[in-house]
Amino acid sequence: MSRKASSCPICGQPATGETRPFCSKACRDRDLLQWLGEGYSVPGTPAADEMTKSDDYGVDSTPD
Ligand SMILES: [Zn+2]
Repeated sequence: MSRKASSCPICGQPATGETRPFCSKACRDRDLLQWLGEGYSVPGTPAADEMTKSDDYGVDSTPD
C-alpha cells in the first residue's frame, strides 16, 4: 500500500487526511447527496406497484 493520498472519487484531486477519501467537504457532501438521491428512488417504485396489485386481487376474489 502506498502512503500517497488517494484521489477524490468526485473530482479526481488528491484527497487529504481529514476528508478522505474525498479532497474536501464539498466533494464529500456531494457524494452523500448522490447516495441519498439514489436510495430514495429505488425502493419507492416496487412497493407502490405491489400495493396496487394486492388491492386488485381483493376486488377480483369477492364473488363467492
Ligand atoms: Zn474532490
